[in-house]
Amino acid sequence: VNERRFKHWGWGYEDQQPSEQAIRQTGALAAGHLGLAVSDIEAPVALERVQLREPRVRPPAELAEICAGDDHARASHALGKSYVDVVEGFRGRFAHPPDFVARPREESDVERLLEWCAGEGVAAIPFGGGTSVVGGVTPDVPSTFNGAVTIDLRGLDRVLEVDAVTRAARIQAGAAGPALESQLGEHGLTLRHFPQSFEYSTLGGWIATRAAGHFATGRTHIEDYVESARAITPAGVWQSRRLPGSGAGPSPDRMLAGSEGTLGTITEAWVRVQPRPSHKRSAGVRFETFAAGAECVRALSQSGLDPANCRLIDAREAAMTMAGDGSHALLVLGFESPDHPVDEALARALEICAEHGGAVSEARSAGGDRGAAGANDAAGGGDAVSSWREAFLGAPYVRDVLVAIGVLAETFETAITWERFAVFHERVKAAGEQALAEVCGEGGRVTARFTHVYADGPAVYFTAIAPARRGEEVEQCGAVKRAVSEAIIAEGGTITHHHAVGRDHRPWYDRQRPDTFALAFAGAKAAVDPRGVMNPGVLVDPRVLIDPGARIAPAAV
Ligand SMILES: Cc1cc2nc3c(=O)[nH]c(=O)nc-3n(C[C@H](O)[C@H](O)[C@H](O)COP(=O)(O)OP(=O)(O)OC[C@H]3O[C@@H](n4cnc5c(N)ncnc54)[C@H](O)[C@@H]3O)c2cc1C
Repeated sequence: VNERRFKHWGWGYEDQQPSEQAIRQTGALAAGHLGLAVSDIEAPVALERVQLREPRVRPPAELAEICAGDDHARASHALGKSYVDVVEGFRGRFAHPPDFVARPREESDVERLLEWCAGEGVAAIPFGGGTSVVGGVTPDVPSTFNGAVTIDLRGLDRVLEVDAVTRAARIQAGAAGPALESQLGEHGLTLRHFPQSFEYSTLGGWIATRAAGHFATGRTHIEDYVESARAITPAGVWQSRRLPGSGAGPSPDRMLAGSEGTLGTITEAWVRVQPRPSHKRSAGVRFETFAAGAECVRALSQSGLDPANCRLIDAREAAMTMAGDGSHALLVLGFESPDHPVDEALARALEICAEHGGAVSEARSAGGDRGAAGANDAAGGGDAVSSWREAFLGAPYVRDVLVAIGVLAETFETAITWERFAVFHERVKAAGEQALAEVCGEGGRVTARFTHVYADGPAVYFTAIAPARRGEEVEQCGAVKRAVSEAIIAEGGTITHHHAVGRDHRPWYDRQRPDTFALAFAGAKAAVDPRGVMNPGVLVDPRVLIDPGARIAPAAV
């Protein structure tokens, strides 16, 4: 069968792997643009040359039909898509492949799998698009488990029901962005949730990680769209009622949101959908400094205007994405509505910008909807707003090329209240730049942008980019990550605004969250997952469940 296969490393399908010549050309362009000296272009290690460890367990006969244990299946589920994951995969290093991959075709398959995993002491790792950048899907589980199985949910990708009266849709968890949007599109509706990983990430993955979409204000995180959710836990079904709102105790949906596969496997959800927007206006506004732009964004975020886009990009990042010449910060501002013109809102927002020294570089309206891209404008064009947007959407592919040409590129996303923002920004950036200089030498830089803005503070997204020392990328990136994460926690920020905790953010998450909360969460996990098989090591330490000194005893099985 000539089935299209995902690359065993990196972003996208095997047939999207650029040729060596294309890598050379794009690499030279990217390097020139970034002002970096680039060493040779390296080729990825072919799958045939990869040696995976022997599987510890084999699929049981009754599940064999939906399971695969070939090298491609195991390697392509061994890592997520962080920079370090891409480097590891590129070099053919897959330290923790799952023993096999299960691909459920219906919910009852998930039930049977979890029952088998609990019975056999085998870890179960739910897997949506595998776009985790925090080690969330890496089957790196304690040796107390007899093995690890990845549950790939991409076969469950249907929109099952559309309620046009309430404007909600029941969608299976494995539906990735494009499949989900095209099915909703048949009804003239959209979920309007466009993370940068939209092409491959899934509804279940979004809910499990509390993903945030492209839009800057209003409903930023996926849980704001969830009306009810359904999951299979080792202890049974977790299904909430469809309600527009409820004050009945802690929310069962909100508890699944951000559970990162540790409580159960989300199989479907009712989500709030809406008509596609027909009125759109956008503008690019220049500011002399990032600080001046930030003050303006604070005013905008507190104005009640709720722009769909309000992305402030610092001068260096604007230059990197060809949206500026490096002399000014850029604010990408956009409004949209399915119901009414948004000219007045944009006009008022531009007044606020002018009051803060912003100079409009372009403003325009647009008709069509590129939907899938979450892009606001149908028109192409070489202006700053669309340059930035195209760079944003193509970024995941470019990153694979950066690895091939030896450029380190890592991102950090956080949020902070406005009164602490200026100091926070300065110190986190300085910590990143110092670490980059120490491990990569000259030529590195840390840039910043706002991805989301709230009335009480921005979500700040830092990008660290530098020439890497070949073969040492993982250690170099680790050093930068530690320095930046330490600064984020020391300065009162969150270790993640939307990328989740996974395995990689645990050291800092453990210092951020209240200990009593960890106890409460571990207790809830022990109740629905008594053997602790659901994605062990993510969010909460599995030892909490079995430590005899802990106040929580594992429930009897
Ligand atoms: C280039 C790039 C850009 C990105 N941009 C964004 C962005 O704009 N916004 C954003 O929020 N994130 C972004 N991410 C991070 C990532 O895409 C999100 O975390 C996304 O929500 C993961 O979805 P997924 O389907 O790929 O889940 P996976 O990566 O497969 O899994 C993520 C976690 O969720 C769990 N999980 C997955 N599916 C289920 C399920 N059905 N039930 C229970 N648990 C499940 C997994 O066990 C794992 O812990 C980006 C990542 C990359 C590589």
